[in-house]
Amino acid sequence: MYIDSHCHINFPEIANNLEEILANMRANEVSHALCVSVDLDKFPEILALAESHDNIYASVGVHPDYELENEPAQAELVRLAQHPKVIAIGETGLDYFRLQGDLEWQRKRFRTHIRAAVETNKPLIIHTRSASADTLRLMQEEGASRVGGVMHCFTESMEVALAAIDMNFYISFSGIVTFKKALELKEVARHIPLDRILIETDSPYLAPVPFRGKLNQPAYVKHVAEEIAKLRGITVEEVGKATSANFKQLFLH
Ligand SMILES: [Zn+2]
Ligand SMILES: [Zn+2]
Repeated sequence: MYIDSHCHINFPEIANNLEEILANMRANEVSHALCVSVDLDKFPEILALAESHDNIYASVGVHPDYELENEPAQAELVRLAQHPKVIAIGETGLDYFRLQGDLEWQRKRFRTHIRAAVETNKPLIIHTRSASADTLRLMQEEGASRVGGVMHCFTESMEVALAAIDMNFYISFSGIVTFKKALELKEVARHIPLDRILIETDSPYLAPVPFRGKLNQPAYVKHVAEEIAKLRGITVEEVGKATSANFKQLFLH
């Protein structure tokens, strides 16, 4: 059995095919999926999905790429996180690739999310792009290791992976690890401890090989597991078993 630790099945690209997506999960032994929040406007949608499906979980948070007039307050994140199907805070983090200029608001928002996670004792889902040094620094300064979490859709170096693991975080690989040119990332997936690895689709984007360029869905997470198994010289079942146990250890303990 496999668990997709990060997807956006409420996004309009795939939300209309929900029944088909759930059926494909069953057919591909994907037992659960975590539907990750990107802004508070769409959070009710995610929560409704989680409430109506036993095997779908939700998170609450505002993505670093969303410039807003009203910043999410720590108290609001804490309040929304009280629901039993809300198992994480995020996605949050820093993205200096998609946005440039004075991004102090992004760092401030990231700190708010870490504080909400610490207050609720729920793990963090962290997005980092072209911003690894600041991401690690803020995690350190705010004591993110007290709750831990996951570095989602990981594309950074071995050094960054090990620094995050040191802070009680898991490393989640997406379809990017199946891409031919992702050589450095494949090395990370080969060498970090198996008990620190999660798998995800980040669907509807980033479909793994052999679906690259097409719409992604949680059922495809098996292809991420297959790539990791190949890299580590173990069976895909072992990767499924370990990553599902890791998911439960992090989010459902
Ligand atoms: Zn992300
Ligand atoms: Zn995402």
